[in-house]
Amino acid sequence: MKALKGGEFLIKETLPEQVFIPEEFDEEQKMIAETCQSFLEQEIFPNLDRIDALEEGLMPSLLDKAGELGLLSISIPEEYGGFGKDFITGMLANEKLGAGHSFAVAQAAHNGIGTLPILYFGNEEQKKKYIPKLASGELKASYCLTEPGAGSDANSGKTKATLSSDGKHWILNGQKMWITNAGFADIFTVFAKIDNDENLSAFIVEKSYGGIELNPEEKKMGIKGSSTRQVFFTNCQIPVENLLGQRQEGFKIALYILNIGRIKLAGAALGGAKEAIHQSIKYAGEREQFGRIIGKYGAIKYKLAEQAIRTYALDSALYRCSSSVQNAIEEEMENGKNKQEASLTGIKEYAVEAAILKIFGSEVLDYVVDEAVQIYGGMGYSAEGPVERAYRDSRINRIFEGTNEINRMLIVDMLLKKAMKGELDLLTPAMAVTKELMSIPDFSSTENTTLSEEKKALANFKKAILMTAGAAAQKLMANLAKEQEIIMNISDMIIDLYVSESVLLRTEKLIAKNGEQAHQEQMAITKVFIYDAADRIAKAGKDAINSFAEGDEQRMMLMGLKRFTKINSINAKEYRRTISDKLMQNTKFCF
Ligand SMILES: Cc1cc2nc3c(=O)[nH]c(=O)nc-3n(C[C@H](O)[C@H](O)[C@H](O)COP(=O)(O)OP(=O)(O)OC[C@H]3O[C@@H](n4cnc5c(N)ncnc54)[C@H](O)[C@@H]3O)c2cc1C
Repeated sequence: MKALKGGEFLIKETLPEQVFIPEEFDEEQKMIAETCQSFLEQEIFPNLDRIDALEEGLMPSLLDKAGELGLLSISIPEEYGGFGKDFITGMLANEKLGAGHSFAVAQAAHNGIGTLPILYFGNEEQKKKYIPKLASGELKASYCLTEPGAGSDANSGKTKATLSSDGKHWILNGQKMWITNAGFADIFTVFAKIDNDENLSAFIVEKSYGGIELNPEEKKMGIKGSSTRQVFFTNCQIPVENLLGQRQEGFKIALYILNIGRIKLAGAALGGAKEAIHQSIKYAGEREQFGRIIGKYGAIKYKLAEQAIRTYALDSALYRCSSSVQNAIEEEMENGKNKQEASLTGIKEYAVEAAILKIFGSEVLDYVVDEAVQIYGGMGYSAEGPVERAYRDSRINRIFEGTNEINRMLIVDMLLKKAMKGELDLLTPAMAVTKELMSIPDFSSTENTTLSEEKKALANFKKAILMTAGAAAQKLMANLAKEQEIIMNISDMIIDLYVSESVLLRTEKLIAKNGEQAHQEQMAITKVFIYDAADRIAKAGKDAINSFAEGDEQRMMLMGLKRFTKINSINAKEYRRTISDKLMQNTKFCF
């Protein structure tokens, strides 16, 4: 059966057999994950204080060690010195290393936004020259897009490049800000405008070219061990052959790379969340108050369960999306594209889903680490304990790789553009929903399996979104872009839909394989997540509708919304207890 295209989750049904679930990793993938885990345990966790003190030379030496173990080259093609592993395997390694605090950020900046522009957009000479050394860690990379006046509005940067009079060099002048790895990077991928071009171009800049100065390290709230500096270019001479891609193609390159960065950020957030849950369970099982371990109290059980529910949801959505990307890459390669071109097409196809994951991943991690601090009580607030750092380090994820506000706006914008280009038929299903609204509700019972209620709810969530977004687009037309609050509401509904569906698909697949009895806790997770999602979708939908509709239309839509977000009551307390009891029994995150 053909996989759904990007955004089609909104209008079509996905079957469990169409998604990859984390329980399906093969032996080799598990081995790679274990190597990443033992690297963190041996090299990173014992050195976190030294890393956060920005001890001279430490981070580059850790990247060297990761390089020696092959951890920087997992997804790099074999012809450039890597292992050529597929997208899902790369994501798994990224998830595991994601628990590595500042090291995770340095590694992701090097491996992701630092290396990928050259891998995906470089010509053969550029790739041969740089990729093997980046894959081994001999060269360290950074990505220079942001400027003091150009953050979210990244295409408005003032850094300039002009051709030297002999035509041999680009002369670069300007200032970049918040550049991760800047303190030790050998390679800077710099975005700048040539002369008075409208759009950015991209350049591969070696530190050795000279004309590069760095400000001192930024003093930050978290990820203190990650080098973040301003970079100044003063008549920096770049050989002409180091233009990356075509002139004025820089913004396109930046956006492609951010799409990958977004889904990878979600992967790293997942790794961080699992580690924070692990710490939470451990402490909840050790700390005694009023004569009992705190893990026996309902208030703490709720927290542990909710950390696990959201993390399971992120896990499910992350690998569902990763498998969509991987399938698309494979399909493109079968159609004759080379791996790099195929990867770009595959990743672009699922840009909406990548934005969903970036938002959901960063917000799950914030929730999980916040509750970890709470479970630890005073020790959570102490820099001696393990979760205070996690709390501070998490916060950046809602800011970089496109703030969560920008990503929420992008979700709706990209979906509407797909619809306008005829790539995604939102109109026909939206019209069907309008017709359904006028008709008498269907009370006939559907199949009665354990998760049939949730399945029905999901089909209805899609209708709630199509109804709300369709009416908003029709009513506000070009003005919708100015009504950001409504866009945020619609985005929130879409995020909840995609994630809820991913949770359901995973659990359905597990049950089909091993039976219900083996997956009681996963069923509990699915029921609670979708039960809560129904309320969140109803609230966001109500806020949106009340912002643009009036009179009969408003009343009819609110009634429709109520119908489409209706879900049977469950005993969420009991389900959460089932989940937290399992966590406490296993003394680790076990779903
Ligand atoms: C630790 C750290 C590391 C970083 N690493 C790198 C790196 O390696 N390379 C790199 O190039 N950059 C990097 N960045 C920069 C990062 O990507 C930017 O900080 C981010 O894109 C936001 O830009 P800004 O800080 O200028 O915020 P602003 O764009 O000024 O945004 C401020 C607020 O306004 C909101 N906002 C902005 N525009 C709109 C709009 N149109 N509608 C609604 N709301 C809006 C934002 O969501 C945000 O809440 C890093 C930043 C940090 C803090």
